Amino acid sequence: MAILDIIEIPDERLRQHSEPVSSFDEVLQQQVDDLFETLAHSGAIGLSAPQAGILKRIIVVHVPDDDFGPRLYINPEILRRSKSRFVEESCLSVPGIEGNVVRCIRVTLRAQDAHGKSCEFEVDGLHAVCVQHEIDHLDGILFTDRLSWFKKLRLRMASGAGAGLSRAA
Ligand code: ZN
Repeated sequence: MAILDIIEIPDERLRQHSEPVSSFDEVLQQQVDDLFETLAHSGAIGLSAPQAGILKRIIVVHVPDDDFGPRLYINPEILRRSKSRFVEESCLSVPGIEGNVVRCIRVTLRAQDAHGKSCEFEVDGLHAVCVQHEIDHLDGILFTDRLSWFKKLRLRMASGAGAGLSRAA
């Protein structure tokens, strides 16, 4: 097992669509083991393969003390969504930024395990929020894309990009 490097913005790999997993072989098993080890080491509750530079549709989620335990979801697909609410999020690949995004509080998803077996899962709470955040990564979407326009503007101002904007106004 190995701890993988987490890539950060503006790395373009974070904006790519990851490929579905089709080979459930030893290479995949090694990548899954590495992702779990990297997740444990990071102190985060979820990690997607593209954040470790692996452009495959794999996510791992482990919310300490929840009812679901460590979970592997390969080729995950959300089948049903509950009502939504604002949740504060952050991301290992977007250091130093937190913000509120709208997420469903319960989701039903279908995913495969490391052997290719397909199962359905119903998850809620932080686990469900994390699943939605990590699946976004598989489609090149970052949580900052889902922030309100006002929060995005404040982030741009803070990074200096807003200076031209205010001069133009
Ligand atoms: Zn993230």
